[in-house]
Amino acid sequence: MDEISRNLSNIRSRIITACQKAHRNPAEVKLLLATKTVPPIKIIKVINAGYPLIGENKVQEIKEKFEALKAVPHQSHFIGHLQSNKIKDLLKYGVSCIQSIDRFSVAQKLQQRLTYENKTMEVLIQVNTSGEKSKFGVAPPHAAQLVQQVSSLPSLKISGLMTIGLFSVEMEKVRPCYKLLKSLQEQIEKMQIPRVSMKELSMGMSGDLEIAIEEGATIIRVGTAIFGKRNIPDSYYWNEGNA
Ligand SMILES: *Cc1c(COP(=O)(O)O)cnc(C)c1O
Repeated sequence: MDEISRNLSNIRSRIITACQKAHRNPAEVKLLLATKTVPPIKIIKVINAGYPLIGENKVQEIKEKFEALKAVPHQSHFIGHLQSNKIKDLLKYGVSCIQSIDRFSVAQKLQQRLTYENKTMEVLIQVNTSGEKSKFGVAPPHAAQLVQQVSSLPSLKISGLMTIGLFSVEMEKVRPCYKLLKSLQEQIEKMQIPRVSMKELSMGMSGDLEIAIEEGATIIRVGTAIFGKRNIPDSYYWNEGNA
């Protein structure tokens, strides 16, 4: 077996073990391949192994890989910081969900463009659960209000919440972030906002997917543990000032 296949079977057993521990059905947890910096040839390998959901952080990277991935049936989510001036470009590449809506202004711009193109888009609301100033995402106390505002935009369909947990090698330190996202989900569900679904919770990465699954993740986003270490630091993709 090559390295990617070995990594994949390792991830698969981590997911199954975590689900058993949490008394959850593994079918409830989708594995999204976080494919930033990964060349199409490797992505295709994993798609063909049965994991057809990928996520990219940069519109430019989606664009570069688009031709190579076109022939391979898959689903693509946007998981990076969305800039208003990239929306038009992003909509050209068949993205089925934008997981990173974190402010009303960008949602409004997206609505305008979707209206123009006569399209709709599934979105998740990104919450900054770690409270780190540098991270993107709406502040937790404002999440419900943002959901309410975005729900008024007819071409956007909210289907849940997303977060990037605290970046820490100590797994237990990220747990409060995931608990917080779960509690926001429950709180917003109770509000019964028309057209809003809270079914998806996108949280958990290579180092902490077990905790995310225990806390209720329905989408885990895994890069390093499948494709190996990246040369570009995550701060390039995640932090204010870089995106
Ligand atoms: C890169 C990335 C991931 C995956 O991180 P790994 O530690 O490589 O598994 C998850 N979510 C987002 C938003 C990312 O940018």
